[in-house]
Amino acid sequence: MPPHPSAAGSSLVDKAREFIDRDLQHVVHGWGFNPVVLVEAHGSIVKDINGKEYIDCISQTAGPVGIGHNHPKVVAALKKYLDSGGILHSFKGAVNIPRVELAEKLSKITPRGLNKIYFTSGGSEAVETAVKGAMRITKKKEVISFQLGYHGGTIACLSLGQPWHREGVPIVPGFRQIAPPYCYRCPWGKIYPECELECSHALERMIKYGSQNDVAAFILEPILGNGGHIFPPSPEYGKIIRETADKYGVLVIADEIQTGLGRTGRMWGSEFIGLKPDILIISKILGGGLPIGAAIFDERLVDKELQTATWHAFTFSGNPLICTAASAAVDVVVEENLPAKAAETGKLMTAKLKKMQEKHSIIGDVRGPGLFIGAELVTNRKTKEPATKEILKILPESYNRGAIFGLDKQPGVGNVVKIKPPLSIPHELADKALDILDSCLTDLEKGKL
Ligand code: PMP
Repeated sequence: MPPHPSAAGSSLVDKAREFIDRDLQHVVHGWGFNPVVLVEAHGSIVKDINGKEYIDCISQTAGPVGIGHNHPKVVAALKKYLDSGGILHSFKGAVNIPRVELAEKLSKITPRGLNKIYFTSGGSEAVETAVKGAMRITKKKEVISFQLGYHGGTIACLSLGQPWHREGVPIVPGFRQIAPPYCYRCPWGKIYPECELECSHALERMIKYGSQNDVAAFILEPILGNGGHIFPPSPEYGKIIRETADKYGVLVIADEIQTGLGRTGRMWGSEFIGLKPDILIISKILGGGLPIGAAIFDERLVDKELQTATWHAFTFSGNPLICTAASAAVDVVVEENLPAKAAETGKLMTAKLKKMQEKHSIIGDVRGPGLFIGAELVTNRKTKEPATKEILKILPESYNRGAIFGLDKQPGVGNVVKIKPPLSIPHELADKALDILDSCLTDLEKGKL
């Protein structure tokens, strides 16, 4: 979530205050509290209760409204389903038509062979499903992931991700982590291409020397989102990962909750590293704003064990109303060619950020691809000291000036401005959002923030 101004420092009027106070009375908050009451949205703009408009450069948490807020196709599909008296929920074993239609549509756009789908109510459930499925399929119990990855908030998902979210909870036995391919801060202190992709061998070393030869799966975000928009330097990385996994009978799970369905300028982020996963996980953009996720298995893996046995259950799996929205959202991604739009607008935004980098020394690195953009801020380009304090001045001010950017407020990696607007954001709005960021950087340099 972006850092919003504290209630004390902002210009909140009483309309918002009342709901904020009532909210705090009974709602338990997890990832921080933002004293803003959002009431309306359209396309790439959200409006708060005081009528103030913001350009949404986070698509409300890294993607859920990636096709644009309140897309008319999604709204119309929901109205039509409700007006027709469609069932709101059907029991787990029963077949519902929106689920069938959604599964068929997804199977047409997923990488070849990935067409066996288990639907969930969100990302963490989908990750759990993929990991549990991999364990059932391989009959093995260890899992390897990236140290800076993020895979969700359940205890198993936390064991796969960043350490700072794990306070007070145990790590699942057998879950192990390797360093990610973070070129800007190479964990091996090397520089690409002289490094000869040292990072791509970390998986094999962990399997050989750090595991108990019981590794079911390696899970990765093909481009790390929460960890700071970290991108393997070449498709060779994906090739080595695939070869290593095949050599040891390990399944590759691609968590494309942030990168999937066009965000990166291609339909799937794993295409950038030439990696065909065995299991693909999606969520966020999929629901058109409503909660849904999916673990999508390669057809070769799904035999009787996963197809008919009682191996897994979530009450709301494949809920028909949500599948109706998701079906319309998938149509929008395809019909509006959103991956191509993301590629085009992403190029413009990245080029503009690189221009801004020339005048603002605080911008250490600009990383794409598509509309999966990260600008890493540093106080010193040589030492690459993370500009963690500075970013906490810049982003609330951008917000005050009408543009919402993303930030993972963590020590060490809490210095990346994350830019993930709806894939259809008009160029003028994309430009305006970056102008706002630019003006905040200028005011920071002048000591005005
Ligand atoms: N994986 C990734 C890559 C994510 O970005 C997220 C959510 N930010 C999750 C998993 C967890 O999804 P959810 O919050 O819907 O459980």
